[in-house]
Amino acid sequence: MRFSSATLDFLRGSPIEVRFVDDPRAFRGRLLTGDERGRPVHAGTFLRKRLIVLDRALLAAPREFDRIFIHELFHFAWLRLGNSSRRDWERLLAAEIRLSAKGELGWSAEWRKLELRRHDVARRTRRWREYACESFCDTAAWILSRGRHAEHTLTAGARRPRRQWFCNFLSRPVSI
Ligand SMILES: [Zn+2]
Repeated sequence: MRFSSATLDFLRGSPIEVRFVDDPRAFRGRLLTGDERGRPVHAGTFLRKRLIVLDRALLAAPREFDRIFIHELFHFAWLRLGNSSRRDWERLLAAEIRLSAKGELGWSAEWRKLELRRHDVARRTRRWREYACESFCDTAAWILSRGRHAEHTLTAGARRPRRQWFCNFLSRPVSI
């Protein structure tokens, strides 16, 4: 598969199947197609099945395809990241929050960030860990799929540490 702007040859792992469907929708933890129920989504990822399902409409929008596909791929990287790197990423996010850094690098992370309460960070609740994961995937997509996007709302001061963290992370092969 060709990408409009990113080269992903630093990724290592067994194959991941990619399927295209029309009008995917998230409904009660499931991904539906050809159904009126649920809310429209661009993609769904099934880690254990090693499957990414993408909205076929993305094929007509290469930049958006990159952004969404890279986000989904990095869910596999997050799974393999290991606790120490995951905690390192969480420390970076916690430092941003202490500095009241607003915004995110994708809506998936942003709506979770908006729902965080103080105790979520301190206790590393499920809400916090889901936010950390989505933020990791959105940041990867921001780094690897170039171009501006309306969902890139993170304050400028917080972008540099994220870029540095990812440059360091991407300097070695990434397991997916
Ligand atoms: Zn995600």
